Amino acid sequence: MSSYYYTVFAVLSFIFGSCAGSFTNVLIYRIPKGISVVKGRSFCPCCKRKIRFYDNIPMLSWLLLRGRCRDCKEKISFRYFFVEFCSAILWCASWLCFANTSVVYAVFGMLFCTAVLTVIFTDFDDCFVPDRMIVFIAICGVVLCLSDRFISVYSRLFGMLFCFLFFGGSYLGSKILLKREGLGLGDVKFMTAAGLCLGLKSSFFSTLVSCVVAAVVLSILSAINKNTGKREYPFIPFLGSGCIIGYFYGERLVELYLSLFIGG
Ligand SMILES: [Zn+2]
Repeated sequence: MSSYYYTVFAVLSFIFGSCAGSFTNVLIYRIPKGISVVKGRSFCPCCKRKIRFYDNIPMLSWLLLRGRCRDCKEKISFRYFFVEFCSAILWCASWLCFANTSVVYAVFGMLFCTAVLTVIFTDFDDCFVPDRMIVFIAICGVVLCLSDRFISVYSRLFGMLFCFLFFGGSYLGSKILLKREGLGLGDVKFMTAAGLCLGLKSSFFSTLVSCVVAAVVLSILSAINKNTGKREYPFIPFLGSGCIIGYFYGERLVELYLSLFIGG
């Protein structure tokens, strides 16, 4: 690919990524409440007035309005800006990192990141893992299996199997041994679908990173909240972040690690 197209598409993927982030905000807000995600314009959660099209420009509008609704002046959460910004960065990074290796991997990686961002925040806000996002991630995985050669089909299938066995086993194990759900069924479904997108090496890497980080953060939180008795925390923010890091770096880092032993 010529460097001209590479650069032009990098800028475009940043812009489209921010728009996808704007849609991600809609998904995060509406899916758990059962509101249609395609019908009806966006509205201010406070005064319910429809948001004008010129106030709906990703990132820019939030900055220009200084994070307040134009009508009721109520604060609009920084989260809206943050999700749009993350989405723009992830889409652009996916293009820059992978477009020269596999355009399919780059493009479906963008969609994968968008779906993962959505599930991270629906789980964080409402402890809700939408099945349709899992199906969407699984479809991304199937398309990648059929069309991408950056990661082999076998690696993807083994990635899915690994995640299913590891998280499904943890789910059953905690239910039988601890008599409570250590993780939700949504977590198992999410990781199984993600495993198909990531392949075996990145699945392993994402699992390792997210479980270690979750163990540290959750034990600190449990210590802080010891008196309030809060025992259940959303797990997908950890798993999803691990998957996004795994998508970008998993394959390379695991190969680097293995080469230390094999001497490749
Ligand atoms: Zn308002």
